[in-house]
Amino acid sequence: MASNCVLLVEDETDIREMLTFSLERGGFKVVPAESAEEALQILDGPLPNVVIIDWMLPGMSGIDLARKLRRDPITSDLPLVMLTARGEESDKLKSFDAGIDDYVTKPFSPKELIARIRALLRRTGTPEDGVLTVGQLTLDTRGHEVRVHGDQVHVGPTEFRLLELLMRNPNRAFDRTQLLDRVWGRNVYVEERTVDVHVLRLRKALMPFGMDKAVQTVRGIGYRLSPVPAPVA
Ligand code: CA
Repeated sequence: MASNCVLLVEDETDIREMLTFSLERGGFKVVPAESAEEALQILDGPLPNVVIIDWMLPGMSGIDLARKLRRDPITSDLPLVMLTARGEESDKLKSFDAGIDDYVTKPFSPKELIARIRALLRRTGTPEDGVLTVGQLTLDTRGHEVRVHGDQVHVGPTEFRLLELLMRNPNRAFDRTQLLDRVWGRNVYVEERTVDVHVLRLRKALMPFGMDKAVQTVRGIGYRLSPVPAPVA
């Protein structure tokens, strides 16, 4: 879940490579997959910020992949963009029905696709410059920096991913299983108390800035991030 990470599911090598190149130039990190099956394996790990799915794939189709992702509570709110050579109205309706957020018909310009991805990320809460802000806290998803009032907070890579997830969903409570699945990925076996260890480390890193209270314990559930008043200077 690095700087605006795109999972690109496309079986045609030429298109996959061309898009990877264009997206990377557009500032995205790209994880390529050649099939829906490979994409599902990747999605058992840390989640990307958006998934681009080609309609026609060998094995499971792009539409079936989209439906599967929408049914799964872990991936149900992942932004999805469908690529297809078909332009018929009924097909478009079918893919919106499968839970697709946007739709690009081949042939398309990479610029158009990137513009649509950016618009989609804005709609789903990722700002253009990749900087998330909650109260006094800012997290730069591209520069991998956390700051309070401009002062840098040093956090480890796991704490960074944990904070990024919480900042993308302010005031939303996550239980430990949800945090494990989204931050560590489902393919890793980690005990639930590992979450507590990393929450503790995150609070410790935020403490000198008076921001440790932003990471709140929700009794009987887990954790959430809430904006806290500015610390008294
Ligand atoms: Ca294809």
